[in-house]
Amino acid sequence: MLQISPSTGARAGRRTVLGVAAFVLASLAVSAPVAADPATDKVVVIGIDGTLWSEVLAADAPALRRLAAEGTLSRTSIAPHTTMSCPSWATALTGVWDSKHGITDNGSSCNPAVFDTYPTVFTQIERAAPQLRTASIGTWNTIGMIAGGGSPSADRVVSTQLDPSGAGVCESAADTTAATLVAEAIEEDGPDLVFTHLDQVDIAGHTLRGTWPQAYRDAITRVDELVDDITSAVDARAAAHPGERWTVLVTTDHGHRPDGGHGGSSDYENASFVIARGPGFAPGREYNGYALADITPTVLDLLDLPVAPNLDGLSMRAGGSGDPDAIPARTPVVDSPITGSSSGSAAAAAVNNPLCALVSGSAGTGSGR
Ligand SMILES: [Zn+2]
Repeated sequence: MLQISPSTGARAGRRTVLGVAAFVLASLAVSAPVAADPATDKVVVIGIDGTLWSEVLAADAPALRRLAAEGTLSRTSIAPHTTMSCPSWATALTGVWDSKHGITDNGSSCNPAVFDTYPTVFTQIERAAPQLRTASIGTWNTIGMIAGGGSPSADRVVSTQLDPSGAGVCESAADTTAATLVAEAIEEDGPDLVFTHLDQVDIAGHTLRGTWPQAYRDAITRVDELVDDITSAVDARAAAHPGERWTVLVTTDHGHRPDGGHGGSSDYENASFVIARGPGFAPGREYNGYALADITPTVLDLLDLPVAPNLDGLSMRAGGSGDPDAIPARTPVVDSPITGSSSGSAAAAAVNNPLCALVSGSAGTGSGR
């Protein structure tokens, strides 16, 4: 911002010059809206593994509810896509469904070579605009594999599930570490794209949902607090940097059966949701046309980068690729057969320390995900 010194302005002989300068500045100010929009778009994508929106509504989850109220919510089905974590996060991070990328499990089909053919959003950004800064900071080490696959890969890739010795970390602790690092990155560096993956809801789904549905909701509540940390960092960053325009996207990779687990094609497993909060997304709107495959093209569109024509997804700013009139997956809330104290029960032991007791110290690579 140009400023005219008051001491200079006090000198009568300069008044005419200052008057002309003021006129020129005023003219520039009037013409400014015609110039290119100077705001810089930034995007945060929060991936919450295995989370049913119906259970978010049943849980204590004010941050997610707030994001939905401040943005647009889509409740959708990922059918006929595989309801497993690697296939679905690969879809979110490439913009194509499993019918193209070919990942159908968390095992051998989930490998870095896929991302040479179907580059991740990180690679697509780094190829088109290498000056942009991209980061994947999340819990599951497979997300690190995806973000680190392809060339060039994300600028920064962090998986918090493994400690420096390679031993497994409790999922809840790993999620907290990931969210803390994400919030720090947003506030201190303002990367152009940050993706994060939080895992404990899925683990609680596998281990406890069948016997203790409230434990699954409690995991949602813990993650909701992390979502609040990340969203607060975004809002603080945006307030401190008026030239930045931030969009927050939230999604999940699949749902969970009432007895816990996924991989099949029931409504509970197919259920997904997308929240888009930011400029251009109507607050409080429910519009079911946004799909998991739309995450990557939406990020590219927000960053003003080209979207490859072979992607299955479409930018949500153009309505997304889903059918807004399709009936969302039907996932009634599961009531808990366990109420009150269950002191001494096997389930209580799991609930007291579900994420460490049941991850088995091997980074959970054998779980259902
Ligand atoms: Zn998953």
